[in-house]
Amino acid sequence: MAATHTLDLDRPKGALAPLVDKFGRTITYLRVSVTDRCDFRCVYCMSENMTFLPKRDLLSLEELDRLCSAFVARGVRKLRLTGGEPLVRRDIMFLFRSLSRHLASGALAELTLTTNGSQLARFADELAACGVKRVNVSLDTLDAEKFRAVTRWGDLAKVLVGIDAAQAAGLAVKINAVALKGLNEDEIPALMEWAHGRGMDLSLIEVMPLGEVGPERVDQYLPLSLVRARLSQRNTLEDIGYRTGGPARYVRVAETGGRLGFITPLTHNFCEGCNRVRVTCTGTLFMCLGREDAADLRAPLRASEADDLLQAAIDEAIAHKPKGHDFVIDRRTRQPALARHMSTTGG
Ligand code: SAM
Repeated sequence: MAATHTLDLDRPKGALAPLVDKFGRTITYLRVSVTDRCDFRCVYCMSENMTFLPKRDLLSLEELDRLCSAFVARGVRKLRLTGGEPLVRRDIMFLFRSLSRHLASGALAELTLTTNGSQLARFADELAACGVKRVNVSLDTLDAEKFRAVTRWGDLAKVLVGIDAAQAAGLAVKINAVALKGLNEDEIPALMEWAHGRGMDLSLIEVMPLGEVGPERVDQYLPLSLVRARLSQRNTLEDIGYRTGGPARYVRVAETGGRLGFITPLTHNFCEGCNRVRVTCTGTLFMCLGREDAADLRAPLRASEADDLLQAAIDEAIAHKPKGHDFVIDRRTRQPALARHMSTTGG
């Protein structure tokens, strides 16, 4: 199959100077964690007893809007709201509604979100009305008991109703599943057939050593090279050039006709093509998910109503975007690569 590129990430005429780092990578994709809170406690993401940020430290939704808009003005074409769980932030639809003006103007090619699906039944129609076309739903297993064990608190039935609602609202749903040793590894073919049977792409993700979560990472980590080799014994996987602006590399599965993505931060690092940065709900900019390099954007944002200070801080930060990360998971490396949990920066 010929390469297909579904998203136009080219910069429209008249935009401010693009964000280009010292390795020549242009930043066109911003992920924003709008809250560090979540209604699940996935065993690879959070510990059971998390301490969350005091609400007063969070940027207001108006400030998040201003921050996102500053990036859009610099050529960011794709915006993903994430968390924590983005749909548990109070009045989050205000932010989606407000940001949708950048879709209407053509400055933004895509406004989307990553969600655990628990609140989708409530918000699917409104998201579609805001111009959201696609949503990533994280779902690691279709077994209700395992689902409860992985999420610690989640209810599979509620998530499935949320997925139904999203599809009924006309949203394209992509399922994201973290490949977990001994937990869902036997279920991956069934998960794929279920997703493809419903017209949904499935992306598999390697677990990353972010934050102290309780279980040992080495007991969770399942290399996708192994998953792919196993799948290849039962299915025909054809590499395709399909991209959605993120790190997944896709194959078409001949037997189902569906797309399967592999997100491989450990077995095959994709940093050379990185087009992303991340902002947390406190306005901290992380230039790389796998490194601690960060810049505070909250102070320059609040220091002036104009965006000059903010833009200068963004420029300074992008100039320091690291070349890449170097995650390691093995028996000798017992400490997480970073103290920060995935729920801080979002996926
Ligand atoms: N609550 C939303 C959700 O569940 O999709 C958004 C935030 S969640 C942190 C985003 C994605 O990161 C989810 O797909 C989750 O499975 C994934 N994730 C969390 N911790 C991870 C880790 N340590 N390694 C790899 N993926 C992780």
